[in-house]
Amino acid sequence: MKAYTHYPLTPLIHKWVTGLTEERNLLFEAIEQYQSPINIQHTKPFKENIKGYIEVFEKYGLDYKIFFARKANKSRCFVRKAAKLNQGVDTASYRELAQALELGLNKEHLISTAAVKNKKLISLCVANHIPIIIDNLDECKLIQAVSEELNANATVIVRLSGFQYVGNTLPTRFGFHLGEATEFIESSFGEAGIFNRLTYSGLHFHLNGYSISQRGECLLQSIKLIDSLNEKGIETKSLDFGGGILMNYLQDKNQYAAFMQGLKASVLHQIPAITYQHDPLGMVILEGTIYGEPTVYPYYNEVNKASFLDEVLNYKNDQGQPIHELIKVRNLQIRIEPGRSALDQAGITVAKVAFRRKDTDGEWLFGLEMNRTQLKSGSSDFLLDPIHVPKFKSENPEKTYGYLVGAYCLEQEQLLKRKIEFDQFPEVGDLIVFVNTAGYMMHFYESEAHLFELAENLVYHSDSHTFTLDEETKALSQET
Ligand SMILES: *Cc1c(COP(=O)(O)O)cnc(C)c1O
Repeated sequence: MKAYTHYPLTPLIHKWVTGLTEERNLLFEAIEQYQSPINIQHTKPFKENIKGYIEVFEKYGLDYKIFFARKANKSRCFVRKAAKLNQGVDTASYRELAQALELGLNKEHLISTAAVKNKKLISLCVANHIPIIIDNLDECKLIQAVSEELNANATVIVRLSGFQYVGNTLPTRFGFHLGEATEFIESSFGEAGIFNRLTYSGLHFHLNGYSISQRGECLLQSIKLIDSLNEKGIETKSLDFGGGILMNYLQDKNQYAAFMQGLKASVLHQIPAITYQHDPLGMVILEGTIYGEPTVYPYYNEVNKASFLDEVLNYKNDQGQPIHELIKVRNLQIRIEPGRSALDQAGITVAKVAFRRKDTDGEWLFGLEMNRTQLKSGSSDFLLDPIHVPKFKSENPEKTYGYLVGAYCLEQEQLLKRKIEFDQFPEVGDLIVFVNTAGYMMHFYESEAHLFELAENLVYHSDSHTFTLDEETKALSQET
């Protein structure tokens, strides 16, 4: 077989991360103090991302509000930062909402999109006048009952489904069908409705995937619904198209394409493995034929964040009118709920090398003091090269190739499935920095199997070059 060829995937790295990996002492001290691994968050990139969206909305003179989807990262620092930027937070559970309220956010900043809403959550929403995104009739009944009990009214936003796209209905398990929405809204809410404690205020949808034209079509269909409601005297104040705004992780389009090509050759055993034991990353191999594509996030995207939003707002109807115009003339507030993309460059995960060994195939394994759930999303692999921060720079460095493995006692416990290149042989005590992990990677699937503790979340302050614990994030009212 041919000699091993390495396929690098060089990530985009924000200045604050480069600074930390170059100075190093702060990282080594933090790992000793808080145990490996640690997650480090920084709110400056978060602010840059949100500002990028704000600029696009303002360019078109739109009334807008951005609700950061907190489920992508549980840290408090981003919740507080969103409010400081005069934007909001999309909460998806009781504790996400309760903690945001403790941090001093209020009904201007918050919505609840929880997929399952129990009485405790609905009571908290109603008592604090937090708008509730409704998804089904049972929820409406419970909100009605809770509002009667509390002698209050609840503001609701209707989640929509049943959109048409190139001749098909977009499948989803959420929301009220577009075709039935006018009648549902007309007969349900306000004084004459069956849910007379619920006040209708707007529409919402969130699509799977990352298609600009799907978002455009769904917005156009929502605007049609808004017009038909308007004809019946029902006012819609806001239209929210959720999250799923693409971001870009990688520097080089060609590197990404080369890796994808290399992966196919590797899974067919035409070249030495570039993923652990030729792992196909979600593709299916039957009798020497590859079916499907790798089930990974699209890590390289030229249109991303603000430019993605701009393209959605410039999607046109049959008469050639762009969505931003249709929204503006109707005085609608346009809303988004970015999760992952709001967190672009806002967090890293750092872990310590614990051991080096070879497996039965003779491949180098580098064991880190962390586990696979601390760097995990729905994607089959996190396709970014980590940064190796050695304790001591080697005098005669030798390039080394191997896999990063973690602490759960499973054969499948690879932290990254890709084979990684190291500029010098990793030593025990060296650090490995995984960049751009704030969106989903560090928190969404973390677990405490083997009774390992969850990683600490630190907040980096670039002015003082220090860390604080995220738990110590102060409420808005404590700020001078
Ligand atoms: C997950 C989710 C989001 C955030 O999606 P991203 O892809 O992280 O931007 C926003 N809104 C709702 C309702 C969601 O479920």
